[in-house]
Amino acid sequence: MGNGGSKKRIVVFFGPPGVGKGTVATRLAEEFQFQFVSSGDLLRDNVKNKTELGSEAKRFMDAGQLVPDGLVTRMVFARLDELNGGVFLDGFPRTKFQAEEFNAYAFQKGLVLLVINLEASDGFLMERLSHRLICRNCGAIYHRSNLPPKKKGVCDACAGALYQREDDRPEVVAKRLMVYHQQSAPLVEYYQKAGLMVTLRGDQPLPETLAGARQILRG
Ligand code: AMP
Repeated sequence: MGNGGSKKRIVVFFGPPGVGKGTVATRLAEEFQFQFVSSGDLLRDNVKNKTELGSEAKRFMDAGQLVPDGLVTRMVFARLDELNGGVFLDGFPRTKFQAEEFNAYAFQKGLVLLVINLEASDGFLMERLSHRLICRNCGAIYHRSNLPPKKKGVCDACAGALYQREDDRPEVVAKRLMVYHQQSAPLVEYYQKAGLMVTLRGDQPLPETLAGARQILRG
């Protein structure tokens, strides 16, 4: 999938928390010359900067619940409006309402959509998320044993400090998975019916998932 056409392309990385959406999208963004946008990162930036949106969103995020649709759609569309060229979108849409708003937005802006759906079992995701480490500075993602940084606690890319996300604690992860199954998983059928979705396994070693995603993006 080239990025030089006249229409702006948006590739949605869809799937449950911890399946590797952010990891795969950030690793391929430069190679395919797409910009990376994550609704979770945008919300965390708002929390960090103590914006009005951040203070409203925080209690939902801390509880592992979804932030209300209206807040998230406005935030994501505002970010997309700022960008030229193709975008890898991680974490949005997550509800039927968001998907419908996104369709209308895409139609209005003449965007071409593709959805890459990553799949894995809840047991696998629980294990992976409880070992996940994030760089406080650049957002790079590591796993304590499967994808460790070269130096403990330090990001390979920018030497930033690594931390565990507050919502990666097991009790919050369980809630996030439940929310995924109830509110987001129905979008699999929604996008399959629309002929826009390709599914990949997210529980294989990272190079294999990357290879699968590359094939889809080139196809
Ligand atoms: P993520 O980084 O994608 O795991 O998102 C972290 C948290 O941000 C989620 O648990 C939600 O509380 C919130 N969030 C991110 N994206 C969305 C979205 N599209 N809709 C609602 N809430 C979201």
